Formats: sequence, structure tokens, C-alpha cells
Amino acid sequence: MKRFVCGLLLCAACALPAWAEGLPDLGEMERGGLSLTAERRLGEQIMRELRRDPAYLDDPEIAGYIDKLGQRLASQVEGARQSFEFFVVRDALLNAFALPGGFVGVHSGLILAARNESELAGVLAHEISHVTQSHLARLFGKQSQAQLASLLSLAVAILAARSNPDVAMGAAMAGQAVGIQQQLNYSRDFEREADRLGLDLLERAGFDPRGMASFFERMLQFGRLYENNAPAYLRTHPLTTERITDIENRIALKPYKQVPDSLEFGLVRAKLKAWEGTPGEAVAAFTAQLRSGKYAREAEVRFGLAHALLRDHRLAEAEREVAALRRLGLESPLTESLAAQLLQKRGDAEGAARLLAAARERYPHERALLYALIEAKVGAGGTARLREALSLLDTEAQLSPGDARLHAQKAKILARLGKRLAQHRAQAEAYLAEGDLDRAIEQLELARKAGDGDFYEASQVDARLAELKQRKLEETRRERRF
Ligand SMILES: [Zn+2]
Repeated sequence: MKRFVCGLLLCAACALPAWAEGLPDLGEMERGGLSLTAERRLGEQIMRELRRDPAYLDDPEIAGYIDKLGQRLASQVEGARQSFEFFVVRDALLNAFALPGGFVGVHSGLILAARNESELAGVLAHEISHVTQSHLARLFGKQSQAQLASLLSLAVAILAARSNPDVAMGAAMAGQAVGIQQQLNYSRDFEREADRLGLDLLERAGFDPRGMASFFERMLQFGRLYENNAPAYLRTHPLTTERITDIENRIALKPYKQVPDSLEFGLVRAKLKAWEGTPGEAVAAFTAQLRSGKYAREAEVRFGLAHALLRDHRLAEAEREVAALRRLGLESPLTESLAAQLLQKRGDAEGAARLLAAARERYPHERALLYALIEAKVGAGGTARLREALSLLDTEAQLSPGDARLHAQKAKILARLGKRLAQHRAQAEAYLAEGDLDRAIEQLELARKAGDGDFYEASQVDARLAELKQRKLEETRRERRF
């Protein structure tokens, strides 16, 4: 308990001032809860804070995997009214959480604690159901504006809660934090509903529904054994034996079905594990596992070892592991980007770019390969490569205008080419894709002042700026109406 509360207040202290100002006007709130638009904007705002947090895991392969898994479940929601976005927070505490607006976060600790993919999917399905049933909006809707501000700043802290056992703190403050946090806990009715709907999603998406019960049961046992260090999940999602029995009763009626884990599930977990502890510790852990022979798939262990070696700057050994992976017949976009990273570490950005371009032909839909290819071209340097990267970005950004990373990569290259107007324009689109209208407008104002574009470019900036300002005006008006 103590460890949890300390982490919570530590971040709350730094998050509070920004929140007090940045909170959207919640005049829009309805009696029964927040409207969908208000909820989404609130979620986007929390995400902006979270993305800046060092614990936010900005790894396109890991984030891409969890998002794909989440979308597979979310696509089973009938009559879905909103979109979802799934992301990972680097934190050893077992936790997962839904934010307003369809943003669902999972701690890396929880991904590692899952024994199979159905268990992980079970937790996601439960969170998705909290969102589709507007549980959060209903919780928030009960609070006054002032209460909401302090609740949300704490919520962010809880959600991002990094464990920091070194911070001592007064009992009164800790008590207050727990009090506020309890208002954010889901009620037992909400939990039961999320379990029931989550189970349906899990099954419809082709996972083993037993995954949900087995994982919850282990978390509950873990909570009893380690009272001081219980899974944070248990605090926001009150878990009881009664709840588990409920799930088990529902499952008992279903036929047994064995669902094999995806290759990606194992590789993503190995990559997460490679980043635990010091690089030396990670290498030692994988080496010991290889020696012991205790693993289901050798390729997963070697893949983790290669990443740990790369992290420890032991390039030759990491390259040997990649060669071993190829001999084992491991075919995955994750091996390709690992091989490319090694080439780049060797100073061969051209080679990395060639390898990634070939890999993209085999896996055309893997975003992580696209981002890596652009980075490799930028790493190769020279105006010709930068221009190639730019034209690739132009094509891709048109296909997926909502991809903030592409716009940000574009802004970085344009900055290197000394194109200031275009740089700010691209940065504006990056902010817009993250739902940050104010910053997008700011960037367009900068683009206007840059003075290095032709007449055509300048009028495009003007048009976009006028459009965004109009959007801002409409938002403000909508808030005042209520
Ligand atoms: Zn729950």
C-alpha cells in the first residue's frame, strides 16, 4: 500500500499546477455523466500529460502490438460509439486502466505477468467494457468541477503511478490521496458488468475465455500474499472471490478451447524483459534461461537475449543471436528491425535502410518498419536520403493523417533542411493528430512568421490556420452553451 501511495502523491504534486489551468471547461457535463465529446477531450488532455511522462512506452513495436490486440477485441463491440487507443506504461506494478475517451493503458508488469495471450486479452476486454458502458463518465459526472480537477490530477498520477519507494510522506496526505482515489474506484456493479461484457468480447475475438478468470484469480492470490505490494489493479477494480466465481460459472457452460499464443506476444514480452534491470542483469537472465532449457520457444529467449546484448553494446554477440534466430527459422518484422538496429549501431545506416525497405515489402502494414526506415534514411544523411525520407513521409502521411509520429518525423527532417515554414506546418499536424488544437495553432502562427515559403505555401498555412481557429471558436462556444 505504502509503495503505491508514495508514487501517487509524488506525481500528483507535479501534475497539479498544469491541471488547474489546463482542464477543459466541463460546463458541458450532463446530469448522467460526461458527453462523448467532453469525454474524448478529457482523455486527449490526460494523454498529452502521459505521453510526456518518461514511463510512457514510446516503442512502436510494443505499442503497435498492444494496440492491435486491443483493436481486435474492440472490433467485437456491437454498435460501437467511440474509437479506442491502447498504449503501454513502463511500470512493474500490475495494472491496467481505462481513461475517458477510449484510451486504455496497460503496465508492462501486467504484460509480463500474463501467462498467455488470452489472459492479457481478458484484462483488455474488461477495460474496453468499462469504456463502452461509460463507467468512467458516470463516475466523473457525479463530481463538481473543482472536485474533478483534483480528482483528475490524482487520476493521472495513479494511472502513471511509477513506483518510488524512496519518497517518504505524511500520513495525512497519504490518507487524503486514498480518500480521493476511492471515489475513482469502480463499484462492484460496474465490475460485474465489465466482467460479463468483457467475457463476451474475449470469446467473440477468438480467445480462451478462461484467460480472464485465471488471471484475476492469480492477482487476487498475489494480493493476499503481498499485502504491502499488492497489484495496483485490485485497488481500482475491486476484485472479490465472488466476482471470480461469477466469471467461472459463466465459463463452465462453454466448451473447452485451446488458443495458441501469437508469435508477437512472445517476442514483445521478451523485448520488454530485455529492458528490465541493468543491461548486464538482462543478459544474465536470458543466458541462464537458455542454459536451463526452461522455455516453450527457443527463438523468444534468443530474441530477448539479442535485445539485451544490443542494450549492453555487445554488438558482435547480438549479431550472432540474430544469425541463430534466422537459422531457427524465426520470421517476424521484429527480427528485421532488430537486425537493422544492429547495422545502424555499426554505422551502416545505408545497409539498415536497404534491409528495412526489403522487409517492408514482406510486411507492408507494419508501422514500426516504416518509422525505422525513415530513421535509417535520416541516419544515412545527405540531402538525397533526406528527400527520399520526405517523399515517403508525404505519401504515408496522406494515407494516415492521424499518425502523429509521421508528422513529427517530417518536421524534424524539414528542420534539418532549413525549411522553417514547412517544419512548423508539419509540427502543427503532429499536435493536431494528438488532439492538441492550441499547440497546433501556435505552430501555424510560427509558420506564418517563418517567411521562407512561397506565396502558395503561405496561403496554405493561412487557410489551415483559419480552419483551426474556427474549430477552436466552435469548441469554446459549445462549452459555454451548457
Ligand atoms: Zn474493472
